[in-house]
Amino acid sequence: MIYYKNEEEIDLVRESSLLVAKTHAEIASFIKPGVTSLSLDKIAEEFIRDNGGVPAFKGYNGFPCTLCISPNEQIVHGIPNNNPLEDNSILSVDCGVVMNGFYGDSAFTYEVGDVDLDVKKLLKITKESLYKGIDQAIVGNRIGDISHAIQSHSEEHGYGVVRELVGHGLGKSLHESPEVPNYGKRGSGLKLKKGLVIAIEPMINMGTRKILQHNDGWTITTIDKKPSAHFEHTIVVREGKAEILSSFKEIEKIING
Ligand code: MG
Ligand code: MG
Repeated sequence: MIYYKNEEEIDLVRESSLLVAKTHAEIASFIKPGVTSLSLDKIAEEFIRDNGGVPAFKGYNGFPCTLCISPNEQIVHGIPNNNPLEDNSILSVDCGVVMNGFYGDSAFTYEVGDVDLDVKKLLKITKESLYKGIDQAIVGNRIGDISHAIQSHSEEHGYGVVRELVGHGLGKSLHESPEVPNYGKRGSGLKLKKGLVIAIEPMINMGTRKILQHNDGWTITTIDKKPSAHFEHTIVVREGKAEILSSFKEIEKIING
């Protein structure tokens, strides 16, 4: 069952998604070597609640924290902890908020300290692949057009595209139909209609696409321990051009100083 949203509902998803964006910006200035991911999680939770939202991930299937924080070879679903962040590392932060009954969901991979050029390139290409996917999210196209755009841009650079985890519809639930894979064939899958709200979220590995699920029940890493990047926007399908409901503008203002 796919729930297409009317403009009123889209407004509410936008509000939640913008609180996610502001939460990212709130923690962005704290991300540096020596800081712990658990301290970032506390800042995020307080900020979300102070602004009238509820952390969407906390308690979701028993997840213990507000943010999923996944350093380096961790792809997604990392659990915040007390280990200090290391120089020359990356940190994928995924944040979800529910407010007024509607969800927003967005992820960004941050640089910690001075990062090697090949890893910087992984972040750049992963973010580009997200926007190439969003470019395809227009009325009349199909899910496969989004998937293909992400996959081809990433694989062009020799990267591994994770298969087991995918983007998703969202709205009154954090995860709704349809699934939005980051790999696929042009012209295949569900035809995109006005009002379809989806999270597009490439998870791109520097090496093999193969993953490992850890026995904490959450953490997912690359099998070759090479780094992985994750960028995610919540968007709505529209005629001619998708509207991005979340935002990286606030984050990028902070990290570009
Ligand atoms: Mg997410
Ligand atoms: Mg998501």
